[in-house]
Amino acid sequence: MEWLGLNILAELPPTGQILLNCRHNPFLVLLAYLVACAGSFAMLNMAERVSHVEKPSAQRQWRLLGAFCLAGGIWAMHFISMLAFETPLKTYYDLPITGASLLIMLVAALFTMNTLGQTELRAMQYLQASTCIGLGIAGMHYTGMSAMHSNAVQYYQTSLVLFSIVVAIVVSFAALLLARHFRNGGGMFHQLLKYIASLVMGAGIVSMHFTGMWALTLVVPIGSTLELPMTDNSLHLSLTIALITLLIIASSISAALADKKLQSKEHDLLRVNALLSQLDQARVSLQQVAHYDALTNLINRRGFNQIFAEKLAEQTHSKGMLAVMFLDIDHFKRINDSLGHDAGDELLQVIAGQIKNATRSHDDVVARFGGDEFCILISLNNRDEARQLAQRIMQKMKEPIALVGRRMVMTTSIGISVFPDDGTTCDELLKNADLALYQSKGNGRNSLNFFSSNLKTRATLELQLEEELRTALAEENGLELYYQPIFDLRNGEVAKLEALVRWQHPQHGLLSPDRFIGIAEANGLIAELDTWVLRRACQDLARLSHNGCEQLKITVNCSALNLCREELPGEIDHALRSAGVAPHRLELEVTENALMGNIDVTVALLKKIRALGVSLSIDDFGTGYSSLAYLKRLPLDTLKIDRSFIQDVPNSPQDMEIVQAIIVMAHTLRLQVVTEGVETVQQYALLEQQGCDFVQGYLLSRPVPLRDLRPILDQLNQRKSVSTVDFIQLYPGRDTDGSMLQDLFVDNPGYRASASVAQPVR
Ligand code: C2E
Ligand code: CA
Ligand code: CA
Repeated sequence: MEWLGLNILAELPPTGQILLNCRHNPFLVLLAYLVACAGSFAMLNMAERVSHVEKPSAQRQWRLLGAFCLAGGIWAMHFISMLAFETPLKTYYDLPITGASLLIMLVAALFTMNTLGQTELRAMQYLQASTCIGLGIAGMHYTGMSAMHSNAVQYYQTSLVLFSIVVAIVVSFAALLLARHFRNGGGMFHQLLKYIASLVMGAGIVSMHFTGMWALTLVVPIGSTLELPMTDNSLHLSLTIALITLLIIASSISAALADKKLQSKEHDLLRVNALLSQLDQARVSLQQVAHYDALTNLINRRGFNQIFAEKLAEQTHSKGMLAVMFLDIDHFKRINDSLGHDAGDELLQVIAGQIKNATRSHDDVVARFGGDEFCILISLNNRDEARQLAQRIMQKMKEPIALVGRRMVMTTSIGISVFPDDGTTCDELLKNADLALYQSKGNGRNSLNFFSSNLKTRATLELQLEEELRTALAEENGLELYYQPIFDLRNGEVAKLEALVRWQHPQHGLLSPDRFIGIAEANGLIAELDTWVLRRACQDLARLSHNGCEQLKITVNCSALNLCREELPGEIDHALRSAGVAPHRLELEVTENALMGNIDVTVALLKKIRALGVSLSIDDFGTGYSSLAYLKRLPLDTLKIDRSFIQDVPNSPQDMEIVQAIIVMAHTLRLQVVTEGVETVQQYALLEQQGCDFVQGYLLSRPVPLRDLRPILDQLNQRKSVSTVDFIQLYPGRDTDGSMLQDLFVDNPGYRASASVAQPVR
């Protein structure tokens, strides 16, 4: 069969001359191979591009470029190989047919690139595609062969032609697989594999060509003139074709590489952008966490400050009014200490809801600043609106709250500052609302107060007092101890002296502890202060002993904050030893509330103190929350009934009943009872009647300095033979208030002078 001048299924002619001395120029074969490799490499790169770019137009563009490179590479390989084929004949090439061969290759290459562009390829599709491409390559080869004109006739061995087609199909199959494989991945190793794959594919393409050439037999008519092959022309042409092809391929590859780099940069940029937006989201949620209180869902201090600054700027601009309210739940700590933190948290949630309900609109800002401290910000037209809101909250608060099986009624203290009257900055307004709150707490809680300028003066004064107290403590200058006798009703003698601290201030005169104990407690000075009192009291007791009061005991107050200091027993021991005083002559007064904290730790510490031989008394009894069960656990000796229970006696029979009950209860627990604040003879008489063990109060003596104590003690002890009841019977017409106490107990002028000094200074 003859096709385009090629005899494929034809027998060799009976006459003619077979050309045997044909050979291939090895340099040009190598060049052809390199071009094939370059074409393959380009195809792999373009295939990778096709699968990575997203825009369809870009995909089309890379497919086209890939097809040109592949077709150019294979076709150039084929053409150079043809030129490498040296025959002793004059050979020329038919340009249109050569062009047609290039076109066939281009179609096959386009088909290859299209196939590679598909997202999924099944085995069957691979096979079909590689068959088409293989046939295309073979078509290109044999068409190209038919463009070669000389006076020789080309005869092909059928089996080898078929084999060459199979090789073309196998090479195409391999090319498809490799191209698909190298679509993804990166790095040096991937690149190396791509080079190797290109070399293998190049070899495959070349081998297809040479299988085709192997099938060829050139037959020239007998007697044809044979010449020496013209290698020079072929060499020039080959080099030109190779150069052009390689240039095209190289520029396409660099375009692909540049695009890849650009895309990876774009991806990096996208990744960075995605990361940035993730970061942004994280920041937003962090901000949410940072600005909200997890327990109550109200905004927290930080969130509040932000809104406050915004609202303040708004109101400054529009010349409006704002109110800042500080709220503090009264005695919240007691709930936490006695019912536990879970109950405390539950209570805070309920209270947060109540406050929120009491506010007027969504415009009002309610925040929790931590602990039991809440803050409200409202816009208003006049101060009364703030007062009304505060009263509404206080009213709401009085609704009983069910908590761990109990019904609790809570109260709140509120402090209010108003913009622009009380300040123009957030800090100033918050500070002033806080001062007003402080005032409310000082007024016995459950009250509301607006800021006023004298509160500020007071705060400044307090700051100054703190500084001065620090100096007074450091220099042991200005602090003094006053002593108030505690009278034993059973034997009519002064049994103890309560040491009460005073501060002789250079400007403000003699200050009572109420003015500075709080400051000391709030500023970490209380331990130092109480230790000073303890040491001084022990020294004074030693001095009193030298002056004949060997039986007297001294009681010293101990701040609640000191009861968690492990050093306390050591300090007491040291104070006693250095003054040379027996431990049983010292009594420590601790308040009920001091015992409400960590009871186990406190009990352990109190036991250590008691083990030294020091007595313990519970001060201000009745004002706290302690129960009988609680008291039983404590290593106590004495119970001091608070002044408030005796104050209205005898006018309040109910109070007297309470006092009576406490005395009975204390005696049952084997505790001795001191009643504080006894000011009248009636109170004295009733307490004596009820079996109270000791009394303390202005009736007997105000607290006095050590130097004035002696005559008072003598007076009190001398009067032991006169019973009060006898006195009242003796002088039934006389006043029974404090005015006659001098007549009854102390009538020496020394006492009067000292009593006036001992007036609490405020
Ligand atoms: P307190 O321990 O309950 O002390 C009794 C307070 O009641 C004393 O006030 C005393 O002067 C006063 N008082 C005594 N009898 C009467 C009376 O018949 N009528 C009235 N109206 N008051 C009477 P003072 O000295 O002003 O002390 C106040 C509080 O300061 C004390 O209350 C105590 O809690 C604390 N305190 C005093 N000295 C110290 C101290 O050295 N350390 C500590 N941590 N606290 C101290
Ligand atoms: Ca006391
Ligand atoms: Ca007391």
